[in-house]
Amino acid sequence: MDPSVVIVIAAMVLVQAFYAVLEIVNVRHMRRTGRTVASPFVGRIEPKAYTGLVASHMLKAQRNVFTMISSIAFLVLFLLTDALGTLERWTRSIVPAEGWFLSRENVVAILFSAMLLVGMMFIGYLAMMLVYVLLRLRGKKAVKRVSWSPVKSLRVIGLGALLLSIAIVLYRTNILSRSSWWVWAASLYSVWLVQGLFFGGRIMKLLKVSEPLHDDKFLGPIGELCTQLDFPVNAILEVNEETELAHAMATGVGRFARIFIYGKAKAAFTVGQLLATLGHEIGHIKLHHPAKLTSWHCISMSFRLWLFATLMSYEPLYRAFGFEGIGPHSALIMASYLILPLSIILLPITRLLERRFEYQADQFAVIARANSEELTAAFVTQIIQNRDNPNPHPWHLAVYDAHPTIAERVAALA
Ligand SMILES: [Zn+2]
Repeated sequence: MDPSVVIVIAAMVLVQAFYAVLEIVNVRHMRRTGRTVASPFVGRIEPKAYTGLVASHMLKAQRNVFTMISSIAFLVLFLLTDALGTLERWTRSIVPAEGWFLSRENVVAILFSAMLLVGMMFIGYLAMMLVYVLLRLRGKKAVKRVSWSPVKSLRVIGLGALLLSIAIVLYRTNILSRSSWWVWAASLYSVWLVQGLFFGGRIMKLLKVSEPLHDDKFLGPIGELCTQLDFPVNAILEVNEETELAHAMATGVGRFARIFIYGKAKAAFTVGQLLATLGHEIGHIKLHHPAKLTSWHCISMSFRLWLFATLMSYEPLYRAFGFEGIGPHSALIMASYLILPLSIILLPITRLLERRFEYQADQFAVIARANSEELTAAFVTQIIQNRDNPNPHPWHLAVYDAHPTIAERVAALA
């Protein structure tokens, strides 16, 4: 096997394994610490509600462990056996030379994908049953009753069909080729720039989901905060979509900057907590964080898209998995295995930047309000309201989220 192919495949396996270990570490952390209410939450949530919240995240994490491990198992199975190659050859043998109503290659791609999807779902279901039986035999309460849900299966099949149709169109229009990575890059950047930096506010207004702040108990104090920080109060908008989330977000640059207050934030936060949150978001804008992050995303995305296009058009990689060459179905499988390793390239730099910016915005808010208590209270309210994980393992959060843990943020404020 070509050394470059070995490197790429090793990266695929290692990254999958890394994510699996991360989930396991998170589960163990929650099992160890989840029974006692973590310090910033004490007195702000009923102990029973807290442990319930941790338990729901534990269940989610346990399911993730199972998904990650089965995904590694399939990857290794495909590499060690000629399963994919055999299935592809067999599919070709049963499709007549002129194809049916579509071109032969497309019919092969559709049949191959359908058989593979059904096969993987079946094996996945068997494995789930096996885990269930093993847990029962060891006297442990099973993760949850294993059941087959037709709705969920239909959703998976629908998503598979959609992805395959996209792959067929991309393959036919030759846009998966190495030389056209910049087409993807350019289209992504234009969306980011238009939506993220300049016209986010206007788009939200066109969609009629945002409106200026209403005249209520918050308007006076927010006006004072804006005057103090020299920020236009009419750049703060409410997003009144039917969402359960309570949070705020800053986008844009210069006079295009906007702050959105979402959903239940007004009901969930006290005046002090909302002002602290707004202080944090104004901090992001005053320190030009959206512009800096968007610039970095453009650089890192360019590199990753170039690498993605290069690998996607590298035939030896397909042959290592048993495929005859590049086709819509093989490209789809290759993409699904490449996306995770590629998403982790340069991720440490992105996360370092984002965490730095979060700490800076926290500092800005605390200095502006001369109060760190209400910012901490706002973090806690937000987590409880949004049913987020109150106590994730710091490594887990560092990989999945731009924000540090509450404990880390509180420690940085001290
Ligand atoms: Zn922030």
